[in-house]
Amino acid sequence: MPKTATVKRVCVYCGSRLGKNPAYTDAASALGLAIGNRKMNLTYGGSSMGLMGTVADAVLQAGGKVTGVIPDMLFDHEHDHPGITELITVKNMHQRKEVMSSLSDAFIALPGGFGTFEELLEAITWSQLKIHNKPIGILNVEGYYGFLVALIEQATEAGFINTKHRDLYCIDTSPDRLLDQIESRYRVRQSD
Ligand code: AMP
Repeated sequence: MPKTATVKRVCVYCGSRLGKNPAYTDAASALGLAIGNRKMNLTYGGSSMGLMGTVADAVLQAGGKVTGVIPDMLFDHEHDHPGITELITVKNMHQRKEVMSSLSDAFIALPGGFGTFEELLEAITWSQLKIHNKPIGILNVEGYYGFLVALIEQATEAGFINTKHRDLYCIDTSPDRLLDQIESRYRVRQSD
């Protein structure tokens, strides 16, 4: 009998700050624990700051492995997470995105700022261009991504986004439901 494909490693994009609402930290922690409890590993930006540190700590706490991917220069290495399983140093941001993406079976965005938006939208764009076929999820904590979803709807209505591409990402308010959606999309795509 063929073995069912499972998501082994999730790449999480999220804020290098905690944000003002404690719900963001709670969600980052809950997502990290859910990833670790499902025996999945984490790829992320390698920092101990903000939600990035929170999600990495939670995955480690649940027994998962954590890989950080960080450019040599650019960031202040003072904040590199000291406790993660593996820290991969790369030359620049382009290489970093490539490594984070190629190591991972799926992508999830938590609340964050420009860095997170850019990473999330790039993952969606690359999926649209068929550069990868990996599931993408948005954890919509307290409606944080409501305006982005509204913008995507507007762009679709205006004819800039193909209606079939609405389906390029899934969105949920619960980490467990989001991971369920990601796992089922992954299984379907692997069996195609
Ligand atoms: P932002 O949402 O603007 O805080 O940016 C967060 C995203 O950009 C994360 O998912 C990281 O991949 C990357 N990033 C931003 N700041 C750092 C940092 N100091 N160290 C490592 N990665 C970072």
